[in-house]
Amino acid sequence: MAQHPDVLILGGGVIGLTTAYFLTHSGVGVEVLDKSDLGQESSWAGAGILSPAPPIGRARTPHDLLAAHSARLHPQMAEELRAATGVDNGYLQRGGWGVFGSDEPVPLRQWRDDEIAFEEMDERGLREREPGLRPGRRRTVFFPALAQVRNPRHLKGLIAWCGLKGVRLQAGCPVYGFERAGGRITAVRTARGPLSAGKFLVATGAWTDGLLEGIGWRPGIRPVRGQIALLHPQSPLLGRVVEEGKRYLVPRPDGRVLVGSTEEDAGFEKQTTAGAIAALLGFAFSLVPALAQAPLERCWAGLRPGSPDGLPFLGAVPGTDNLFVAAGHYRAGIQLSPATGLVMKQLLLGESTMIPLDAFRMDRVGERGV
Ligand SMILES: Cc1cc2nc3c(=O)[nH]c(=O)nc-3n(C[C@H](O)[C@H](O)[C@H](O)COP(=O)(O)OP(=O)(O)OC[C@H]3O[C@@H](n4cnc5c(N)ncnc54)[C@H](O)[C@@H]3O)c2cc1C
Repeated sequence: MAQHPDVLILGGGVIGLTTAYFLTHSGVGVEVLDKSDLGQESSWAGAGILSPAPPIGRARTPHDLLAAHSARLHPQMAEELRAATGVDNGYLQRGGWGVFGSDEPVPLRQWRDDEIAFEEMDERGLREREPGLRPGRRRTVFFPALAQVRNPRHLKGLIAWCGLKGVRLQAGCPVYGFERAGGRITAVRTARGPLSAGKFLVATGAWTDGLLEGIGWRPGIRPVRGQIALLHPQSPLLGRVVEEGKRYLVPRPDGRVLVGSTEEDAGFEKQTTAGAIAALLGFAFSLVPALAQAPLERCWAGLRPGSPDGLPFLGAVPGTDNLFVAAGHYRAGIQLSPATGLVMKQLLLGESTMIPLDAFRMDRVGERGV
């Protein structure tokens, strides 16, 4: 690589690393900086659920478009990462269950309109296919397209890919701010001095507002804490992901079950709390009673990059020629990462983007001139 990369990516989470992955396919010089170790923040902490999406032709909202393209790209990426690096990211499309309260409205019509495949399940069908799941009087729907990845392995695969393809990866290199000449960013100020590049991408997750504030933007990305408990039963008790509202159980093929999650406004505090973990465990036992006997292996929390309207910011930072942002993916950053990485690569290289990005632009919400 020349002394300065063509693209300098700030933040080595799933969004920054996936953008680097797509950029390597075009042969440009890429460098990724992270304040700490790469891939250890929200992207590591997440559950890895890939919710079902409409087919590309049926996707009606900007979020669904990103999800639809990502659903197509996930299995391809999993295969390419495995073949090139030997890392299996655990992509698994085994389907999953949606559980609904007995008098809760179930959006069957919307799923039909969106062409999202589903199957309503009676008690007998459920007993046959998922005997450990005992939702009582609650209703159960099966989604065959629901999939999962093992986030830590996916990140490991992306980091290994970047290493193989000549991406310069710098851990432990916090970015403090920008140097600019008119509309052009000339360098970022880092712990290792100023670093220049042709173009810059801010992919700093929950920390994005703090960084962009320095150049007059505060799009409203905030940390939303999510806690998770990991159970390790002696023998597998659950075959497929179960979601009820915002909480879920994610069984791994080795029998472990991840129980998530909370949505908390706790600033940048990643502590787990007794009350939240107790509530998550209670939720788990109410669906799979046998989990109450399972050893509690570990608990952790991560900081989702929440955005004011739930949509990420993908695009140029207004008033600058060579600064871009991809952040604010909230609860779906792993799911939406492939399409995000691909459109950001297209944008950074001046290509036409595969989907319109207007709904994701930076100045749609938030504050300017802070
Ligand atoms: C508990 C939990 C469960 C989740 N479950 C799912 C799920 O099932 N499915 C799904 O799709 N999504 C899920 N998510 C959401 C998903 O994990 C996030 O949307 C996604 O990881 C965001 O990726 P990111 O790269 O933007 O952020 P991050 O992974 O947080 O990466 C940002 C990176 O930027 C670095 N950084 C920050 N500031 C600086 C700086 N100044 N200089 C240099 N580097 C910096 C950080 O160190 C970090 O590595 C979950 C999240 C949590 C917390």
